[in-house]
Amino acid sequence: MIVNLISDTVTKPTPAMLEFMMNAEVGDDVFKQDPTVNALEERVAKMFGKQTALFFPSGTMANQTAIKLHTQPSEQVICDKFAHIYNYEAGGVSFNSGVSCKLIDGDKGMFTANQVREAINPNAFYYSQTSLVAIENTTNKGGGACWDFNELEKIKAICDEYKLGYHLDGARLWNALVAKQETAKQYGSLFDTISVCFSKGLGCPVGSMLIGDETIMEQAIRVRKLFGGNMRQVGYLAAAADYALDNHINRLADDHKRAKHLGDALEKSSLIKKVESIETNIVIFNVADGVDENKFVSKLAEKDILLISMGEGKLRMVTHLDFTDAMLEKTVNEIERLEL
Ligand SMILES: *Cc1c(COP(=O)(O)O)cnc(C)c1O
Repeated sequence: MIVNLISDTVTKPTPAMLEFMMNAEVGDDVFKQDPTVNALEERVAKMFGKQTALFFPSGTMANQTAIKLHTQPSEQVICDKFAHIYNYEAGGVSFNSGVSCKLIDGDKGMFTANQVREAINPNAFYYSQTSLVAIENTTNKGGGACWDFNELEKIKAICDEYKLGYHLDGARLWNALVAKQETAKQYGSLFDTISVCFSKGLGCPVGSMLIGDETIMEQAIRVRKLFGGNMRQVGYLAAAADYALDNHINRLADDHKRAKHLGDALEKSSLIKKVESIETNIVIFNVADGVDENKFVSKLAEKDILLISMGEGKLRMVTHLDFTDAMLEKTVNEIERLEL
């Protein structure tokens, strides 16, 4: 039994999902003739109370498209120093949109409305013009933390005041909705654009969606084409997402429970200094002083338990659809027994 806690992207489609995919009706999506994609786009737009949704091959491309739609070259995007768009999208903001990031020194990837206000550049001609605020919920590098919705509302008011776009990188928004008992419509009412992933913990092989109202989304399909993201008989993948929305969202609560169990086991280990608070499916922890993090990883790998280092002494475990109770038990036992 191999226990893969490296990421929630390691999941594989269940047999039932695969069967659902195989039975999908498909067509050429470039001609908008794939009924399964069309239905999924309509479904997701409705879920969020928005007019339009567009299917993407990756969350990165959905985010990069949103940034392109909201900005002009030379402008600035406000985001947290932990943001995926800044850290893990290969510098795409500058390459694709010619913009820079104004980084906020937030807490677990989250910041306050006051910090946003302070990060907005004055109007003088020698400043880069601030045009977009980008939020991430849950925060990836922040350890799966969930935003306080009130703070998001306060930031929205500032965006309105300064005429800034408001984008949500919701790669793991599903986890936040389940953990905080919030609704997609709440988020749809706040943000101009939202990206969501189906490939994180939901079992889909691939797939993301960018959601927004008609005006902002008008050029989204052209930008997706520019980025090389047009797809053909992709209904097979849309079917996987459709299946996941029906069957794999509510069960995210199990992932969150198992992540807390892992956190408890790590807390008790003398090899561990600190476990970050766990709200969803990501567990981030530091090894104790004098403990070699790479050795910690390789010792567990010898027991077929896989995780990765995030650098700076931080390690990460992520729970997901393919992480079972039996795997949890094995991992907890091995952590208890581990000697370096
Ligand atoms: C995974 C992820 C994305 C998108 O990643 P892809 O691998 O391109 O699908 C975007 N934002 C966050 C926060 C993520 O965790």
